[in-house]
Amino acid sequence: MKLSWKNFLLWSLPIIVISFFLWQGFLTPTTNEINTNIANSRMTYGRFLEYLDMGWVKKVDMYDNGHTAIIEAVGPELGNRVQKIRVELPTSAPELIIKLKKANVDLNAHASKNTSALWNLIGNLLFPIFLIGGLAFLFRRSNNTNSGPGQAMSFGKSKALFQMEAKTGIIFDDVAGIDEAKKEFEEVVTFLKQPESFTAVGARIPKGVLLVGPPGTGKTLLAKAIAGEANVPFFSISGSEFVEMFVGVGASRVRDLFKKAKENAPCIIFIDEIDAVGRQRGTGVGGGNDEREQTLNQLLTEMDGFEGNTGIIVIAATNRADILDSALLRPGRFDRQVSVEVPDFKGRLAILNVHAKNKKIHSNVSLSIIARRTPGFSGADLANLLNEAAILTARRKKESITLNEIDASIDRIIAGMQGTPLINGKSKRLIAYHEIGHAIIGTLLQDHDPVQKVTLIPRGQSKGLTWFTPSEDQSLISRSQIKSRIMGALGGRAAEEVVFGDAEVTTGASNDLQQVTSMARQMVTRFGMSTIGPLSLENEESDPFLGRGINTSSEYSDEIAIKIDRQIQDIINECHQKTVQIIRDNRIIIDKLVDILIDKETINGEEFKRIINEYTVVPEKELI
Ligand code: ADP
Ligand code: MG
Ligand code: ZN
Repeated sequence: MKLSWKNFLLWSLPIIVISFFLWQGFLTPTTNEINTNIANSRMTYGRFLEYLDMGWVKKVDMYDNGHTAIIEAVGPELGNRVQKIRVELPTSAPELIIKLKKANVDLNAHASKNTSALWNLIGNLLFPIFLIGGLAFLFRRSNNTNSGPGQAMSFGKSKALFQMEAKTGIIFDDVAGIDEAKKEFEEVVTFLKQPESFTAVGARIPKGVLLVGPPGTGKTLLAKAIAGEANVPFFSISGSEFVEMFVGVGASRVRDLFKKAKENAPCIIFIDEIDAVGRQRGTGVGGGNDEREQTLNQLLTEMDGFEGNTGIIVIAATNRADILDSALLRPGRFDRQVSVEVPDFKGRLAILNVHAKNKKIHSNVSLSIIARRTPGFSGADLANLLNEAAILTARRKKESITLNEIDASIDRIIAGMQGTPLINGKSKRLIAYHEIGHAIIGTLLQDHDPVQKVTLIPRGQSKGLTWFTPSEDQSLISRSQIKSRIMGALGGRAAEEVVFGDAEVTTGASNDLQQVTSMARQMVTRFGMSTIGPLSLENEESDPFLGRGINTSSEYSDEIAIKIDRQIQDIINECHQKTVQIIRDNRIIIDKLVDILIDKETINGEEFKRIINEYTVVPEKELI
């Protein structure tokens, strides 16, 4: 009988189960006490250490010979209530006790109950005996047959944990809109095809190239295209697959991967999400992660181990290069960085052209209109958009995709699934006023993006929506533009207030208010747009090592903090007053628009403008 995986499981499972049972179940009854002390939530050891450092841990009860702890902690993530949380502790953590003492935490150790030492000993001995016996049995079996002993030994080695594609079938023409990145890689392809032309003049080709960019921008696609163009095999693995439960597995996977790659050189090794293994070492709160460090070290060793000219090129992808360990970025490793950005209008058009090739699109649909309507969409979003539109077309039993299906798909991708319209009633009226409030403020303010449409058809979480046509260049936004956006976002609530009175305002504005607050806050703390002055007080990204939520380290004094809050309030209050005033001044047209909206359910941009131009006198006074 050959020792296949199936056979192995068939034989070894019962053995392991039985021995484990003996070990845990019969002889040393599990500590029931933990169970009575129910702590449903769990926390990783690393997190626990973070909590400890923050001084959030109040009490620690150890069970199970120090393998398990039930801790009592408070923290912002726990809703600021004392909660019991279960933590699995690593076998050897002598420094923990010292740490706990230092932190002045109430510490208790509970002995396992009803375990006599003798039984315990026997149990602990029996488990390995059964296990070893069982394994020996397996080995003998496999030796008796004509499969060699070596085969059984390959157990424990990782298997098929990376993918290999002999031919990716993807070429550069399939990748659009990221021409700079493509150009950068053309040289790599030449090297894989004709290494002599480089080695002849003594050039060393980079071993590693790091692709940096947001998700869905075509990093994986580009890496595959390189392999496809050069006609070499493509090995890929994701960083998160390296980081496994068992220490050492990640490192052995890296070894296997490079071994296989060397056998198949020239080739491409693609490591997706390299940040999962390649974070800076030793900087995390509460010490590093051993497994990750070992994996990373192995990766570095492997990359140093092969000569640049063996024909293996390692391409790694990440959306955050700033958190990578500097050792990875050293010359001879990932010394080239290529960034891939979310495409601009031209890029989106090019990508749409690629994906429209195999789709039947109605002749009067112009792809440039779609590209115009989709700022911020990544390549993956655009591919998805055309696919959704095609599905919708098929569902509607149409011959070809029209603008109608494309519009519906864009709305769906941005705002979620369409729901059923509300029945006429008070809440529908209120929502209509809310949306018209947004739309009218957006239209009357010069610096605001124009209204694309207003609708009462629910989508995703929203009961009604006002769409604005975003302008292409979102990178430089002026102070008055931000203020206009704040006012536009306040328009919904302001209309509710003016029309229905303070007592009737609803929770529907909560999302708007969140945006308003965040915009105002950024004006003060990041853009220097308040009377505090041109200071940068907060950074966009929270500290990558502390994770979200714990980033409370402020770089300013308490005094400034109070000022910040005041400024935010001032900005929002001022905007709110102006918004309410505009709504009051335009009450007649708003009532009219609401009637039309309730009747038609959707008003598109041109119609909206037309109605407004008919009835309003544009306010003379400067609004902002
Ligand atoms: P990433 O690896 O950057 O997250 P992918 O390469 O996996 O993104 O992109 C997913 C899919 O989106 C691709 O298979 C492709 O269909 C489409 N896509 C993304 N970017 C592009 C692009 N620049 N050109 C053409 N298609 C793209
Ligand atoms: Mg990818
Ligand atoms: Zn709103």
